Amino acid sequence: EGFFVVDTSLTGAALLIDALQANGLNNMYGVVGIPVTDFARLAQLKGMKYYGFRREDSAVDAAAGAGFITGKPGVALTVSAPGFLNGLTALAQATKNCFPLIMISGSSDRHIIDLDRGDYEGLDQYNVAKPFCKAAYRVDRAEDMGLAVARAVRTAVSGRPGGVYLDLPAATVTDTVAQKSDANIYKVVDPAPKQLPSDDAINRAVELLKDAKHPVILLGKGSAYAQSEDEIRELVNKTNIPFLPMSMAKGVVPDDSPASAASARSFTLGQADVVLLIGARLNWMLSNGESPLFSEDAKFIQVDIDATEFDSNRKIDAPLQGDIKSVMQKLNSAAINAGVKAPTDWINAIKTESEKNNTKFAKRISASEAKSTLGYYSAIEPINDLMQKHPDTYLVSEGANTLDIGRDLIGMQKPRHRLDTGTWGVMGVGMGYAIAAAIETGKPVIALEGDSAFGFDGMEMETICRYHLPVIVVIINNGGIYNGDVNVVPDQPGPTVLDHNAHYGDISKAFGGDSYRVNNYEEMKDALEKAYESGNPTIIDAQIPESMGKESGHIGNLNPKLDLSSL
Ligand code: ADP
Ligand code: MG
Repeated sequence: EGFFVVDTSLTGAALLIDALQANGLNNMYGVVGIPVTDFARLAQLKGMKYYGFRREDSAVDAAAGAGFITGKPGVALTVSAPGFLNGLTALAQATKNCFPLIMISGSSDRHIIDLDRGDYEGLDQYNVAKPFCKAAYRVDRAEDMGLAVARAVRTAVSGRPGGVYLDLPAATVTDTVAQKSDANIYKVVDPAPKQLPSDDAINRAVELLKDAKHPVILLGKGSAYAQSEDEIRELVNKTNIPFLPMSMAKGVVPDDSPASAASARSFTLGQADVVLLIGARLNWMLSNGESPLFSEDAKFIQVDIDATEFDSNRKIDAPLQGDIKSVMQKLNSAAINAGVKAPTDWINAIKTESEKNNTKFAKRISASEAKSTLGYYSAIEPINDLMQKHPDTYLVSEGANTLDIGRDLIGMQKPRHRLDTGTWGVMGVGMGYAIAAAIETGKPVIALEGDSAFGFDGMEMETICRYHLPVIVVIINNGGIYNGDVNVVPDQPGPTVLDHNAHYGDISKAFGGDSYRVNNYEEMKDALEKAYESGNPTIIDAQIPESMGKESGHIGNLNPKLDLSSL
């Protein structure tokens, strides 16, 4: 083999970048190393924005968050074997969450892997990925690159969105085509085609809504992802049907809308006779559709792109398959023509129940604010105040009690502005989502974190500072998972215990960011306002007592308990 000049623009690496850009995918989140370092450099040279992370799961979370916010697949990049496996967790999560994402991982050449000869970071990634994503593809020849990206894009966003794995062997990075052809690098036409249910299916749903005495609309994050807020707001406004948002659907209809039944959630769901589910699954988060959360006699209308979702947990009386935006346009006009309206006595019953609960909450908040020490309510209420003043701000949230209390306290006015632990209820997604929200939108972000949740990806504070992103990380520190003061045996910290004396703010300072340590309501409010005004990367260390916080938060029922006192 002699010396020869390769035209870099004819390489698999260059064509991959061309194909991503042809599809409007200009941001890439990743961690580089063998064999994708020059690929990332080339991406920057060709005008893509490449954002380097400290660990692959955060980078892939960021791409997934970008997918949710923009409706286009987020793009992530990892190295082979361990980098790929770190990213795989986030690829699986994105797929569970129905977020569109393309994870590209460099990999070893097939002839080494397939004979199991042992390679540097060698793994059969293509086959490992398959059960954890919507589809896996491997591209072995530079000439197939346009097709590979087209398949990845279409698979990620069509039907139920999800994660796609694209395997990029080292040999393909440098493989070349003889000449470039525009026909091979193209933008996918209509990547998520509209889909409408039949008139019969619509009529079936309208009949149920017309006769309903206690109708309710239950919104899931699919309705936020589908950018269907105009249609859903129209239905709520014209029919007055009370609605309840799942956490990431908050803001599809503003939380302060008079039709919100959020303050009377279990009352409303328990009494409902017709439930209109829009982009929400009847999974564990909704008690698998079972009683007592829902009445056994309740009838269900479900809007979903994936027909196999219907009857996954209980009988769906009126399935409406299609993309939410199109389905709602058709359903709205039929329902409004048929005179569907929520009965007044139902609306009033929910109002009465809501007022009772709101009074209880207001008391809890003001009691917490009056205390000399900080608590969940007094730490989180200032975030709510700020979000109402600046509704463009993005909110990311994770933790157990921090997540639960923040979900109730913080009202959202805009769709797709809240990202949280999602379908698996998983911790360690906060920094990736926060970074993506800041980069994709240019808007300020508040990441509300438990001290345990922050620990999973806290090193990404360096990433936040390196790109100087307007991200305020609020860490509610009770020194533990759930809480921190339970040592089981005298000579070891208990399994839930973390360092309550930690100065998390110093992590921000180490990378040139700002930090505050707050111990009461006034300090918290003040720090948050200053951090917001500055636009600087900031950690606010919110110190609450170690004893505060319930084990497993609101999902203690899922936590098997043993009688440890009997030992
Ligand atoms: P939540 O956790 O908020 O209850 P889920 O993630 O369980 O929401 O449910 C989201 C649902 O939305 C999924 O069943 C998914 O198939 C569906 N979905 C996602 N995008 C669309 C779309 N564009 N049109 C219709 N349904 C969609
Ligand atoms: Mg904690």
